[in-house]
Amino acid sequence: MRATKGEKDSMKQNLHTHTVYCDGKDTVEEMVLEAIDRGFDSIGFSGHGYNHPYDVMSMDEAREEQYMRDIYHANALYDGRIRIYLGIEEDSIGKRFSHDDYEYIIGSVHFVVKDNDVAPVDYSQARFEQVLTDWYEGDILKMAHDYYEGVKEVARREEVDIIGHVDLIAKYNEDGRYFRFEDPAYLAMAFDAIDVGIANGKIFEMNTGAIARGYRRLPYPHLTLLKHIHDHGGMICISSDCHNRANLDLGFDQCLALAKAAGFRSIMILTDEGFRPFAIEDIES
Ligand SMILES: [Zn+2]
Ligand SMILES: [Zn+2]
Repeated sequence: MRATKGEKDSMKQNLHTHTVYCDGKDTVEEMVLEAIDRGFDSIGFSGHGYNHPYDVMSMDEAREEQYMRDIYHANALYDGRIRIYLGIEEDSIGKRFSHDDYEYIIGSVHFVVKDNDVAPVDYSQARFEQVLTDWYEGDILKMAHDYYEGVKEVARREEVDIIGHVDLIAKYNEDGRYFRFEDPAYLAMAFDAIDVGIANGKIFEMNTGAIARGYRRLPYPHLTLLKHIHDHGGMICISSDCHNRANLDLGFDQCLALAKAAGFRSIMILTDEGFRPFAIEDIES
């Protein structure tokens, strides 16, 4: 669908953003103004849903209420200039949310669970290595197994629209130091989790958050996984998992190029009528 001048459809969008209500740097208003500045048609906020004590920056009930109010207010205030969507990033081990309260829900795994204990996947490289050693005797495939079990569980949740950073387990592995991406045992687990998401109609995000933080040069998911999503009829969207407004559209061009390389011709965009596919060339222009 090509937009005509004057009645531009919603195309430049980032649904994965964080603010001072959780671990982001900027206020809702600062993010909105930046989005307008950068020509976004819409922006969605996806604060970390309640997940204490594992994520102390995630929003408790009082903060969540302020967060919602602030975003409603901004949407009214900037009506006609930008559409602002109210979303949330629901953690696999945290509170679950409903579409009665949120316009969209990102489901993400940030922790592995083993024997009723919980350990972070992406807190820091040192912590990642500690978990890998102490919990899995250095066997990354065992850790990846537990991680992707979490992804599968989230992928089956009715309320989840988007699966966040599906291969977060590879955050520190761009140079292949922990495992080979093409290891068939690894791919089997990742494909399995992705297939559950596809079967349940979930959207996978291309996420550039780790590029902003200097851990990676490439977005999630790995190209091999992206191709699998495409070849099996899955859907994708693009986000920067933004914690700092300077990175609001970081790597979007790279994502579109990779999406095309994987065979995609369209990207899912949230509209007032729900998620709809938009041709990549319309998003690029
Ligand atoms: Zn996340
Ligand atoms: Zn996030």
